[in-house]
Formats: sequence, C-alpha cells, structure tokens
Amino acid sequence: MIAAPALELAAVTKAYDGKIAVDGISHKFAPSAYACLLGPSGCGKSSTLRMIAGHETVTRGDILLGTSNITDLPPAARGTAMMFQSYALFPHLKVIDNVAFSLKMRGTSKSDRHARARELLDLVDMESFADRLPNQLSGGQQQRVALARALITEPTVLLLDEPLSALDQFLRLKMRVELKRLQRELDILFIHVTHSQDEAMALADEIIVMNEGRIEQAAPPRTVFNTPASEFVARFIGDHNVIANENGKIAIRSDRIRVLQTADADALSTRVTGIVRDVSFLGTSVVLTVATPGEGEVAVTLSDAQFFEQPLDVGQSVELGWVDSDAHKLAA
Ligand code: ADP
Ligand code: MG
Repeated sequence: MIAAPALELAAVTKAYDGKIAVDGISHKFAPSAYACLLGPSGCGKSSTLRMIAGHETVTRGDILLGTSNITDLPPAARGTAMMFQSYALFPHLKVIDNVAFSLKMRGTSKSDRHARARELLDLVDMESFADRLPNQLSGGQQQRVALARALITEPTVLLLDEPLSALDQFLRLKMRVELKRLQRELDILFIHVTHSQDEAMALADEIIVMNEGRIEQAAPPRTVFNTPASEFVARFIGDHNVIANENGKIAIRSDRIRVLQTADADALSTRVTGIVRDVSFLGTSVVLTVATPGEGEVAVTLSDAQFFEQPLDVGQSVELGWVDSDAHKLAA
C-alpha cells in the first residue's frame, strides 16, 4: 500500500460567532501515524477534527493533504473519512448496506459494492453479521460496522472522535488493540480525539496535547510523559507532581519520588517530610498522598512489592526524597 500523504494544519482558526474555539494551530501529521488529539472538554479537539473532515468551515488558515489544499473541499472530495462517537448507522439498513452506503452514492454496482463491503466486514471481524440490522448488534459490534463504513471510501486519513467513550471498560480496552491493529494494517493516518490520557498513551505514535484552542505539546507519548512542556501538560497527563522551588516549577513523576525507609538516603538530592493522607491500592501499584509543609500534596507511586515490604498508614509521618536528575524543569 502507498504511504498516505501527510496532513498539515497551517495556522487554523475556528471562531463561532466571533468566539475563538481553535486558535491558529499549526501541525504536520506524519504519514501512516496514529495521532491522538488529547485535552480537556471544550479545548477545541472536535472543532479541529470537524474542520479536517470538512464538516465545519475554517475561519482562517489552511488544511493541506499532501500537495493539495483541501480547506474548502466538500467532505466526500477530501480523502478523509470520519467515524462518529454515536456510530450514526442507518437503522433500517442491513449491516452490509450500511457499509456499502457511500459506494452506492458513488454509483457502484450492487455486486461490486457488496463484495467490497464484505472485505471490510472481514477486516473488522464482522462478516457473519452482514444481514443483521443495527439494533440486532451490541455497541461494540455497531462500532466495528461504523469503522468498516468509514473505511470503504479508502480514505488516506481516518478521523475518530471519542470512538471508545460509549463502550464499557472491558470493550474499550479490547477496541483499543483493534484500532491500533487496523491502523498498522491499513497503513494510513489515524487522528483520534480523546480526553483520556490512558487512551492516548496506549494508542498514539504522537500525542497532540491541546488546551484552550492551542497546542501545548506535540510529541511521542514517552516524551510527553517524561518531559511535559508545561505545567498544564504535567498536570493533565497525570502521575506527576508539580512542585515550586526557588528557580521556578519542576515536574516529577510520582513513581520517581522515593520513600526513605526503602531508598538510600545519601543518593537523594532533595528530601522532604510529610504526613500520609491517603493510601490507594491500584493492583500492581500503591499511590500515597503525602501532605508536606513546603511542597503541598505529593503523590508517590510505589510498586505493590515496595509498599508491602514496609506498609504505611494514613496519619503516619514519612520522609520522601528524589534525585534532581528525575526533576524536569517546567517552562515559566
Ligand atoms: P472538545 O471537542 O475539545 O470538547 P469543541 O471543539 O467541541 O471541544 O469545542 C470548543 C469550543 O467551541 C467550546 O467552547 C464549545 O462550546 C464551542 N463550540 C463547539 N461547537 C460549537 C458550535 N457549533 N457553535 C458554537 N460554539 C461551539
Ligand atoms: Mg469533542
């Protein structure tokens, strides 16, 4: 398969009635990558995706797909396809006709479009459901059909807006793996909108963290996690402490904070004393919340083995520390 052309957003702005929702963002998406737009509700993720899809006009700026400027093209002429959160299947059409729908619109013969629809149903493991109606399928199955329907147009970019949010936790984790597999198999660009840090971490080759209509950081998951570009990113991505010191603010991963009973105190460059306020057992790890006089509440993640070697209780005093090389200085 030919590698998909890269998509570029060039100073793209969206204003609704003069109110800015997307604020002049620029970004180049690598071909055949799994990209996640991550950010809190209202930060402009869906608006960005809808502008790429052509479901929303662009107020200012350009959207380029490969060498063509697609800013003002209608959705069907762009080479993009969108999968909606609600799946939006036609209730009165059988699965196979739902999947074949856009080929019908293009005038493809019934036998050709059904043959192609069967291939896509096979791809999403739904070939045996071809003759069912949508209401005879589970949520997870409807989602697979919606995916097949989006992919039948052979898009070079697949856009997914919170595609997993309607599923229960078990199916969500299963579909994550499926989406990643599909992206690899199809070798096209996926742009997946989510407000879930876990989801973005698990899926993305590149995470684009958005806040109030702007891009805060765009980098591979490990870079975002280890070197958050701002206090916002450090806090939003989770599992970090943001601590003020004399030279500004630092971010430090909660699993890099040591408890002195179990650490070699001499190796630590910074030490603080606090009181344990909460102990949360998470299965493979335990998270302590420790109230400190100077640094506020500090989260400490220990492996369950580390914790249960010398368990701590709420109310107990504890000495914490970290090595300075684990502290990441945040931009002011
Ligand atoms: P997200 O997907 O990150 O939650 P949205 O792109 O949906 O964010 O929304 C960004 C901002 O734009 C929000 O303040 C939202 O209220 C506003 N907005 C979104 N769609 C419309 C619309 N059709 N008309 C007016 N305002 C909108
Ligand atoms: Mg949204």
